[in-house]
Amino acid sequence: MDYQRIYEEMGISPEVIAYSEKILKNLEGRFKEIDEIAEINQLKVLQALQKAKVSEAHLLGSTGYGYNDIGRDALEEVYANYFHTEDALVRSQIVCGTHALAIALQGNLRPGDEILSPVGKPYDTLDEVIGIRDSLGSLKEFGVSYKEVALLPDGSFDYEGIKNAISEKTRLVEIQRSKGYSDRKSFSPKEIGDLIHFIKGCKKDLICMVDNCYGEFVCTEEPSDYGADMVVGSLIKNPGGGLAPIGGYIAGSKECIERAAVRLTAPGLGKELGPSLHCNKDFFQGFFLAPTVTASAEKSAIFAASLFESLGYPCHPKADSPRNDIIQEICMGNGEALLAFCRGIQEASPVDSFVRPEPWDMPGYEDPVVMAAGAFISGSSIELSADAPLREPYSVYFQGGLTFAHGKFGVIKALDNIFKAGLVKIPKE
Ligand SMILES: *Cc1c(COP(=O)(O)O)cnc(C)c1O
Repeated sequence: MDYQRIYEEMGISPEVIAYSEKILKNLEGRFKEIDEIAEINQLKVLQALQKAKVSEAHLLGSTGYGYNDIGRDALEEVYANYFHTEDALVRSQIVCGTHALAIALQGNLRPGDEILSPVGKPYDTLDEVIGIRDSLGSLKEFGVSYKEVALLPDGSFDYEGIKNAISEKTRLVEIQRSKGYSDRKSFSPKEIGDLIHFIKGCKKDLICMVDNCYGEFVCTEEPSDYGADMVVGSLIKNPGGGLAPIGGYIAGSKECIERAAVRLTAPGLGKELGPSLHCNKDFFQGFFLAPTVTASAEKSAIFAASLFESLGYPCHPKADSPRNDIIQEICMGNGEALLAFCRGIQEASPVDSFVRPEPWDMPGYEDPVVMAAGAFISGSSIELSADAPLREPYSVYFQGGLTFAHGKFGVIKALDNIFKAGLVKIPKE
């Protein structure tokens, strides 16, 4: 049996299947490059594990205070090895990426300090952490101020503006690698490195922190290889490899990590406490799988861009542009097509394929958001998922896919939904 027949069995229109296959044929060269990056990163991860002498005993966990949790300590060594940093904090107690970013900021800032974002507005959920929107417990309440410098119209860094924005008070620079829910481009580790070099030239003791969410393993280097003092991310995105059930990480200099650790637990306790519970095996194994899982997600994103761009939907990044994260933005142009897309992703899921995503006022986000995901780990966005704030230009942000076969099916199912709703024409040969 060929897989096209199963596609038909699963309700996909024959013209959508045929058209999608034609698009896919042209992507072979691109996919080969991605496989090469994954191979390099797989070896780097293997080196990181071997250097830390990970053994069977490390795969077990601890409970209670978590004193002498050797697995947790080895895992943090593995992350530090991979990111080429002095230390790392990798914990099941870190609830999500926002939490990891929040403790990195809260731990490293003191009253009177100022944060600078030199790449425009940061990710939506940081608004309330920083106090860009007034919020209980924000850094603003603790006397930490905030400044941002927008990117230039062509998407590049406004070096002059950044230089002028750095003052006596500036203590920490927050650089977001991925575009998040904005329509700028995502930055490569090298581009971030150039920015860090410039910033440290203006004031050398500034802490440069990178929000690395969705960027890990997409390139063969990380921002920490280019001078970042901290890189921060979520384990239910790329570095968890789909297996981590929760968690976040911060990799960076010894001082930065210690300051974040005493914020996560308590002053005086720091990294010594914090049981890994039963997560160690999944954390190690997920990290081991992460390079190839990330490659699958990236291929799914490129396939989605190639398919939808060919049908006239603007895509960021463009189908053939270089990638620095796994996010694909597709401008659907109207709410109807956007919902049809998201519902297609949901219907293609291994879990909850029968539920219908609806927009809702999600905590931390300004506009109603629709989220499609039928994931094994709730909210995991390295698994095939799509989310969209309901605002102009009705862009959907598509990401994940633990395997390319699944990512491909999801994209085709999304297109088929739009096609069946009469919202798009599929060109004949
Ligand atoms: C996902 C993400 C975060 C953190 O979001 P959580 O849902 O809290 O994990 C922060 N920044 C960016 C750019 C992200 O993509």
